[in-house]
Amino acid sequence: MSKNTDEKSVSEKLKEKLFRSTKNGCYKVSEDEIKKADEFCEDYKDFLNKAKIEREATAYAIAAAEKAGFTEYDRTKTYSAGDRVYVNNRNQAVMLAVIGKNGTHNGVRLGIAHIDSPRLDLKPNPLYEANDLAMFKTHYYGGIKKYQWPTVPLALHGVIALKDGKCIDVNIGENDDDPCFCVTDLLPHLANEQMSKVMTKAFDGEQLNVLIGSRPFSRNEESENVKLNIMNILFEKYGITEDDFVSADLSMVPADKARDLGFDRSMIASYGHDDRVCAYPVMLAAINTDIPESTVITVLTDREEIGSDGNTGMRSTYMIDFIEDLAKADGEEVRHIMAKSTCLSADVSAAYDPTYSSAFETNNSAYINCGTVISKYTGSGGKYSTSDASAEYMAQVRRLLDDKKVLFQTCELGKVDGGGGGTIAKFVANLNADVVDLGVPVLSMHSPMEVVSKLDVYMTYRALYEFYNA
Ligand code: MN
Ligand code: MN
Repeated sequence: MSKNTDEKSVSEKLKEKLFRSTKNGCYKVSEDEIKKADEFCEDYKDFLNKAKIEREATAYAIAAAEKAGFTEYDRTKTYSAGDRVYVNNRNQAVMLAVIGKNGTHNGVRLGIAHIDSPRLDLKPNPLYEANDLAMFKTHYYGGIKKYQWPTVPLALHGVIALKDGKCIDVNIGENDDDPCFCVTDLLPHLANEQMSKVMTKAFDGEQLNVLIGSRPFSRNEESENVKLNIMNILFEKYGITEDDFVSADLSMVPADKARDLGFDRSMIASYGHDDRVCAYPVMLAAINTDIPESTVITVLTDREEIGSDGNTGMRSTYMIDFIEDLAKADGEEVRHIMAKSTCLSADVSAAYDPTYSSAFETNNSAYINCGTVISKYTGSGGKYSTSDASAEYMAQVRRLLDDKKVLFQTCELGKVDGGGGGTIAKFVANLNADVVDLGVPVLSMHSPMEVVSKLDVYMTYRALYEFYNA
């Protein structure tokens, strides 16, 4: 039996009223909004190129904040509405606060993103020579698929701290005339054994050795002549000896620059979108907030990729200590403040990938160009290891985004029992605040070249800005 046209339009209208919209965001937003997204992302690409490790992101954020009138927080000073302060945590994490009209009395608004990304860290004794090749031993940082990292041009970033208190910044491999480095792979002709291994075994951690040189120091044939040459170059450039590696934070990261992706330039390919793609928007949301109702605090944190442990990660007390100082200045107890506080944990989620469709559940996936994505919970294996945002807080957040016409979608990270992952949301929730994850969907997450959509980046900025200014 066929339906007549009138009946069809009635049911279509009813669907529009009763069903959730699954339309691609590009059909929902104006040309002007897409143009704004493209413009926003030009500066984001600059941030990606200049802030590949947490120390560089911290320095970038402090410089941008100072330019926008933020000054270093001093707990002996009195602050009033509209004052802008920052707290630098060991050059590896930073907090930006804008004091609100109500101060902390009604709770604070927290926006938290992480500025560390998966990479290859140098071991404390990294340098060695093998068969006349100089190499660095590494220990990978965060969750990587090891096979993705060989044959990718790498750059060395970080600091070397000397015994005299001097700190040397290292950044080699980013300029076009810089050398780069790489992990080598075996040629296919000789890889019968390697190719028959399961993927998790095909590359092990001790094979992620970085090639850094091949010429001997002198014409005298003697042992470790190539290593000597490298050490001599490093001594001449930085004044360091081999012992100094032990007091260094040095990382190998992909040397490529962020680039537009696609004939239509709708996406960005880059290392480290997770989680700079949320750190940059939340930093700008802080900078662009004038005088909020409640004090807003932006945290760019470290160590998320390795479980948030350590004094610069979200399991540390550095954020709550700062809020306690602000609360005390208002004559409040921090525990009363936290109970009234709300947080957007700004972190990425997996974007649905049609090539790997079996890993996703289509009804609860995030899609490229469908806007910023809210994840009520993350975790794995029966909602373990996650905070699950309450229905009431979800309602509050979606009301705000709808009111402000911010394009958003919701998702779960992949299929139930397909794996899983976590964010910093649970650490904030454990402090008795309301928190939910919100961020940008990413293709090829944790690989040396991740992909995001410009529209989604911009909508994440808009969500965070409206949250701060609600
Ligand atoms: Mn992340
Ligand atoms: Mn991650």
